[in-house]
Amino acid sequence: MTNPSYQDRGLLIVVSGPSGVGKGTVCGMLRKRNPNLIYSVSATTRSPRQGEQHGVNYFFHTKDEFFSMMEQGELIEWAEYVGNYYGTPRQFVEDKLNAGEDVILEIEVQGAKQVKELFPEGIFIFLLPPSMDELKRRIMGRGTETVSAIQRRLHVASSECKELSMYDYAVINDRLEHACEKIESILVAEHCHTSRV
Ligand code: 5GP
Repeated sequence: MTNPSYQDRGLLIVVSGPSGVGKGTVCGMLRKRNPNLIYSVSATTRSPRQGEQHGVNYFFHTKDEFFSMMEQGELIEWAEYVGNYYGTPRQFVEDKLNAGEDVILEIEVQGAKQVKELFPEGIFIFLLPPSMDELKRRIMGRGTETVSAIQRRLHVASSECKELSMYDYAVINDRLEHACEKIESILVAEHCHTSRV
């Protein structure tokens, strides 16, 4: 039975973590296991990697298009990351939350800070690598970046890990299934939170 006084807005879930920690893989498994979870597709000025599709992995835009979206207020947040711009389209996220659906944003730390200002009730989860050495191995093993891009990503990664305290939860991505299960447990708990009933 549904009590009409229960909050019927969906949960906004923010997942951050350093490049290479496996955010994409963890979020991919979460979506597979929880088809009701809505994934927000970001806009970016980065070039597509092999196999990435417009509208599926990202909305790929020119800088001019991206800046115009920013100016029109079409992005909830945006950030420059290693020379490219990334941002979360506003309308889609607000429509889904208003329809009572849970929405997941996979974004870096600067963007997460902006989301926290706008949606303090959001759930902020930080994915940690088992160690910085393991993170380096994963970024280098990906083989999609130039040496200088890898170095810049590693540099940003270590400063991102220092922002952990602004997040509600820290999840170590040691094994994919474990990380997923921990996030699922967090979502169950948050749905039962007294502030939501
Ligand atoms: P990548 O180039 O590896 O796909 O993404 C680089 C970083 O940008 C990752 O940390 C990723 O989570 C983040 N990112 C992806 N989409 C967005 C977004 O819409 N906003 C922000 N602030 N960061 C994003």
